[in-house]
Amino acid sequence: MKIYDAVIVGAGVIGCAAARTLAQTNLSILVIEKEPDTGFGISSKNSGVVHSGIHYTPGTNRAVCNVRGNQMMEDLCSELCVPFKRTGKITVAFTEEQTQSLTKLLEQGKANGVPGIRLIDREKMEKLQPGIVGTTAIYTPSTGIVSPYELTIALAESAYANGVEFKFNHTVRSIDIPDRQKKYFLLHTETNTFSAKVIINAAGLGSADIARMAGIDEYTLYPCRGEYYVLDKRLKEALNLLIYPVPGAHDSGLGIHLTNTVDGNILIGPSNEYIIDDEDTATTIDIMETLREEGHHLLPSLSSTDFIRSFAGIRPKLAPPEEGGFRDFVIESRRDVRGFINLIGIESPGLTASPAIAEQVKELVGQLLPLRDRKDFIQGRPVIHNTPFLKKRFSDCSHDEKKTLISQNPDYGSIVCRCEEITLAEIKTAAARTIGPVTFAGIKYRTRAMMGRCQGGFCLQRLTEILRESFGITVDTQTLKGPGTELFTGPLRPSSCPLGKES
Ligand SMILES: Cc1cc2nc3c(=O)[nH]c(=O)nc-3n(C[C@H](O)[C@H](O)[C@H](O)COP(=O)(O)OP(=O)(O)OC[C@H]3O[C@@H](n4cnc5c(N)ncnc54)[C@H](O)[C@@H]3O)c2cc1C
Repeated sequence: MKIYDAVIVGAGVIGCAAARTLAQTNLSILVIEKEPDTGFGISSKNSGVVHSGIHYTPGTNRAVCNVRGNQMMEDLCSELCVPFKRTGKITVAFTEEQTQSLTKLLEQGKANGVPGIRLIDREKMEKLQPGIVGTTAIYTPSTGIVSPYELTIALAESAYANGVEFKFNHTVRSIDIPDRQKKYFLLHTETNTFSAKVIINAAGLGSADIARMAGIDEYTLYPCRGEYYVLDKRLKEALNLLIYPVPGAHDSGLGIHLTNTVDGNILIGPSNEYIIDDEDTATTIDIMETLREEGHHLLPSLSSTDFIRSFAGIRPKLAPPEEGGFRDFVIESRRDVRGFINLIGIESPGLTASPAIAEQVKELVGQLLPLRDRKDFIQGRPVIHNTPFLKKRFSDCSHDEKKTLISQNPDYGSIVCRCEEITLAEIKTAAARTIGPVTFAGIKYRTRAMMGRCQGGFCLQRLTEILRESFGITVDTQTLKGPGTELFTGPLRPSSCPLGKES
């Protein structure tokens, strides 16, 4: 059996960032993930905000990794060709009590080293976002936005290009820790056993369970759901920067806010609701109603047809419901289980903090194993960088660029997703570069097909045909996101369409 230097459990943004950072060294690395792809957990279901770091107590892991991660994010995204924008953010006070809380946030932000942070008055607020309500605000110019799933995929692709192995559809069920008889950890999944000198527990909502498998039972996670509405791109010019309320001391999130996405949609959310089942990503009528009202309040030009989709993400909170607020991220190398590194309770701002957490993981691994930096580390993503057109979406190209692409590859002349203007060439490339099995969600996160107004109503059938024609994936094995999410049970009737025999 191969003995890996490090096995990472979880291919979310934290596991993939750790994998890419460790891939800069001599170590052999395996990532084990229960889903069929990267980023199917919390990492694809959040606001996509690169936070500045004003909200967390100075000196905590959250504060330190937030500010450092924010500093690192722009270069990282540029290396990996991931869309990133430094939008800035205002946190707005409406009452006298909130104005006092702003002063505390300002001091906290300064102590955390947040660059450019300042209090602004109504006049300046109005300049930044005409029509805004509220009395005073904190402005943080370093706040930004990133595509959370593209970042996660890019980190994984970069790690993979540098020799990291991935095992998808493998759930870690139990762990044997080293003892007198055996020198290494054994991780058991349904079908395999893997051996490792070091384990990095980056299992998100499953991280307390993974710790328990190694005999560490002091952590409990409390799932807390955040629901969102996605707004049509029609409104993309409506918001110049991010607008947040002042959170209360015991709030479990940062309050319902409006957030631009790098793709031109606006998100309203997230709500805060402790739930029992950490897989329950349902959206609920009551909260959708609240979000609609809130949306109309913050953006009066909203119409009911602008709400195109809803989704929910679940925070892995260490703070129980009766306590509320936030506890610090657990980033630790266990003394009692030597070689076991825990990353637990990585809720917001985990996306922002991911490159900084990865740096800390490298440091902790360096205390356990001899590390040598590799000279042949590939910074970018060969899969993207060797295919220049992939650096830019077809829909973002100029007319002349589009003409050139079509003349080089006629598949660019065939639009599959009309809402987002995604071409056959982009779909085929996305399916070909999937590290794990091909799923519709995997293609969606790599291309944005099915993410527009019609949400796949028109292009799903075309995608089905393309997967069968180009990759031989038959309808009965096509899934939305892995086993249990099959979209078809088999052929309905003989097809008259020229692309194939099933429909
Ligand atoms: C509503 C909401 C809004 C947020 N907004 C922001 C924001 O704007 N900015 C920001 O910086 N952060 C934000 N966050 C936080 C951020 O999304 C998370 O901190 C980050 O995505 C955590 O990544 P992760 O890799 O730890 O978790 P995940 O992405 O969930 O990855 C963990 C992986 O482990 C796998 N796994 C679990 N158990 C096992 C097992 N037994 N075997 C194998 N694999 C397993 C899971 O399938 C999963 O893929 C938000 C979070 C939520 C919920």
